[in-house]
Amino acid sequence: MSRLIAVSNRLPLGVNPSGGLVVALEDALKSSGGVWIGFSGEPSEYPADHLHEHPGAAFQRLSFDLNVEDYEAYYLGYSNSILWPLCHGRPNLMEIRPEYLEGYRRVSARVADLMLPHLREGDRIWVQDYQLFPLAAELRQRGVTVPIGYFLHIPFPGPADCAALPNPGELFDWLSHYDLLGFQAQRDLGNFAESARQLADLKPLSDSRFRLSGREVQAQVFPIGIDASAFIEEARQAPDEDRMRSLTGARMMIGVDRLDYSKGLPQRFRAFQLLLESNPDLIEQISFLQIAPPTRESVAAYQDIREETEHLSGRVNGQFATLNWTPIRFIHRPFPRNVLAGLYRQARIGLVTPLADGMNLVAKEYVAAQDVVDPGVLILSRFAGAAETMTDALIINPHDPHEMAEAMAEAVHMTPKERRRRHSALLQGVVEQDVGWWSSTYLAALEKAAQRPVATSDG
Ligand code: ADP
Repeated sequence: MSRLIAVSNRLPLGVNPSGGLVVALEDALKSSGGVWIGFSGEPSEYPADHLHEHPGAAFQRLSFDLNVEDYEAYYLGYSNSILWPLCHGRPNLMEIRPEYLEGYRRVSARVADLMLPHLREGDRIWVQDYQLFPLAAELRQRGVTVPIGYFLHIPFPGPADCAALPNPGELFDWLSHYDLLGFQAQRDLGNFAESARQLADLKPLSDSRFRLSGREVQAQVFPIGIDASAFIEEARQAPDEDRMRSLTGARMMIGVDRLDYSKGLPQRFRAFQLLLESNPDLIEQISFLQIAPPTRESVAAYQDIREETEHLSGRVNGQFATLNWTPIRFIHRPFPRNVLAGLYRQARIGLVTPLADGMNLVAKEYVAAQDVVDPGVLILSRFAGAAETMTDALIINPHDPHEMAEAMAEAVHMTPKERRRRHSALLQGVVEQDVGWWSSTYLAALEKAAQRPVATSDG
């Protein structure tokens, strides 16, 4: 079996790294003697000119250092102040600076240099996410000919947004060096094809094969999943239900998100406010638990969303709270997975209402955590990648608080039979297309894509 080399911005560190992506790749990494390469996590004053080994996992882990300047330009700058807002439909939040793009290019070139001595004939390389778009181009430039795949975890922007990038042609050139581009949803594959047609020289050869910048590239949809069986088990064994109920109130809606402007939290709070205004019978009968740990706090847009959501939740609570009931509990803390699983199971309604989202794994976790006999209802934004497959959720437009409030009322009153019907269809999808299915399907497609002869000219 050929050796798998996974590359991502963050290296899974800790003695027992157990994120979904790690679980997905662990088998392929273990059985092929594979390697995971990623950033060490903290910028350093004297970055080493080699990769560091981190023992303690079932596969080899190698990290690279970055100096403060590169980290700021590549990670906080180009990745999170340009690409993230752009890919989530918010080009107005981009902060374009030439030094960000330079730093972004520099880091992929540096990672390619550091990786080179570790690569062997027969390897396969799988690059994860938007921080490392240029890596294949850099590796190819250094003579690397092994298959290189890419998976984008976030949405791919359409032509109008792509055109707002400082140098959109370069993005498509970077992508043309991969053998296989993986996207979360048909929406993203469509946006990629249309943006590259308008802004670069893409020509479709079939639904999934394209000629781009003189090369042939395969592009397909692989919706990512969760480690469903582990999460189901986690929720079954979650802390005692009666105790959870006394903590959370009789009827509870839950939202679990990083505190990010793409997650639609203000719209969600407004919808809950409307629900209470138009259904006074629900006062003291339903509460909303929003768990949202802050991230990327040094980026200004994240400070703004924190202020806006704190202000809004405070206003709703001021308007409706009684002596023994707080309508919204807004908690800025991460929770251990087993506690999260128990809270999902306890919640009558799961609110997943992003304005834009690659997939949204919380939607899948919420479904996996439910009691199959008395399941809760998932309210899901049409702009989450998950909406393409999770069609038995209550699908809503997160920009419309009235529609969202109506969906909340519908979920509150839904019959047990209807809840079970929707939940069992959703659960089947979550279990069948779990994270193991995702990685094995992708890696099989990469093998196939790389077997095709690579075209070298436009002829
Ligand atoms: P994103 O990758 O944009 O953050 P996803 O919904 O795809 O969005 O993934 C979020 C992941 O982070 C989920 O696995 C979720 O359980 C986890 N998570 C989010 N908030 C918390 C929290 N407060 N405590 C623990 N885990 C959390």
